Amino acid sequence: MSGGSADGVIERSALEPTALRAALAAREPTAAAEGEIRVVRAPGRVNLIGEHTDYNLGLVLPAAIDLEVRMAIVPTGGDRRVKIELLDSGERDGFDLDAIPAAADRWIDYPAGVAWSMSEAGLAVRGFRAVLGSTLPMASGLSSSAAMELASAWALLDPPELEAHGIDAMGLAQLCQRAENVHVGVNSGLMDQFASSLGRAGSAMLLDCRSLASREVRLPLDDHALVVCDSGSPRRLGSSEYNARRAQCERAVAVIAREDPRVRSLRDVDLATLEGFADRLDAETRRRCEHVIRENDRVLAAVDHLEVGDVEAVAQLFAESHASLRDLYEVSSDELDALVEIATSIPGTAARMTGAGFGGCTVNLVPRAELDRFADAIVREYRARTGLEARVLVVAAADGAGLMG
Ligand code: ADP
Ligand code: MG
Repeated sequence: MSGGSADGVIERSALEPTALRAALAAREPTAAAEGEIRVVRAPGRVNLIGEHTDYNLGLVLPAAIDLEVRMAIVPTGGDRRVKIELLDSGERDGFDLDAIPAAADRWIDYPAGVAWSMSEAGLAVRGFRAVLGSTLPMASGLSSSAAMELASAWALLDPPELEAHGIDAMGLAQLCQRAENVHVGVNSGLMDQFASSLGRAGSAMLLDCRSLASREVRLPLDDHALVVCDSGSPRRLGSSEYNARRAQCERAVAVIAREDPRVRSLRDVDLATLEGFADRLDAETRRRCEHVIRENDRVLAAVDHLEVGDVEAVAQLFAESHASLRDLYEVSSDELDALVEIATSIPGTAARMTGAGFGGCTVNLVPRAELDRFADAIVREYRARTGLEARVLVVAAADGAGLMG
């Protein structure tokens, strides 16, 4: 999709609330004189473990990260239009809240989609003028789409309107997921919007996608750093393969549910049950299911190990998760495999691919004492092996979306 510079990212300093307010006031002097400028923010996310489990109603463990989308906004009273300018490219777009346009493969689809899902839920959305800046690289697998949605949600609604309808951070995440699924047309699970909405500084967030119960899991980041490595490789076949995996899981559930109607998702299936269907499910489908079932167990084990700071045990689980995504679910890539191999050559490092796969990023827990060696090895060896430039991003776990004042 379009969006100015290659990854939509601007300098961190340009995202300071005072700089954003000044940028909006300069462009919209009349609106700014009449209304109060607010700044909203929404972070990207990295998933520690629990991959391709969300749409199978399983467990995920993402953290919101300190790379984010921010907007300075000024509500426009009676004017029912939304107008946003991207600070990196100067590109402008907008829409009318009373005639929300269909998605057209553009960045404005995300705010428009959220306006649509909120209106449909009976919420009183408001027009606004805004400037938008981001430190979160787009389309790299760090969920810039969910960050765009959550920032839009906080811009479109007056907080009292949220309270009046009893909508909490999870409710906002669900409205944003619906925007992406139905309006934008990307059939993603709840993880991304959940993390961007409910993240907590210093923690990952455990989400049970069946019950929607969630809780904070403190990350042991005194001696280790949370590091994202961007493979810089295009996400080849991403969406068609993603949909194919979803369809395989759904077919398996349909076959199993014919015998046991209580089975609604792979969350309701254990390995012994899966084994019992060996004659009715093809080998590839059984491999996909085995990944999902075992991955849920790995999430719970990872939570236990993270809570006692046993990063060595976490590293083992990351290795098993990556191998399973590579060999059973078949969503890794040569580039992601290379990044994980290089990372795990640094002693004490946990590494795995993160996100949907077919390109995108890896997530790593790296001993702080080894950070320089890690970054150097990743950049040099990855370039030698693939001819591509990897990006090493040391991130902090951040709070979820909201108003900055
Ligand atoms: P991801 O969520 O992994 O970053 P997606 O393909 O789901 O990747 O979403 C990326 C899309 O979100 C971009 O193509 C663009 O339309 C929109 N987007 C994200 N960040 C920005 C930004 N800073 N400026 C403009 N558009 C953005
Ligand atoms: Mg996305």
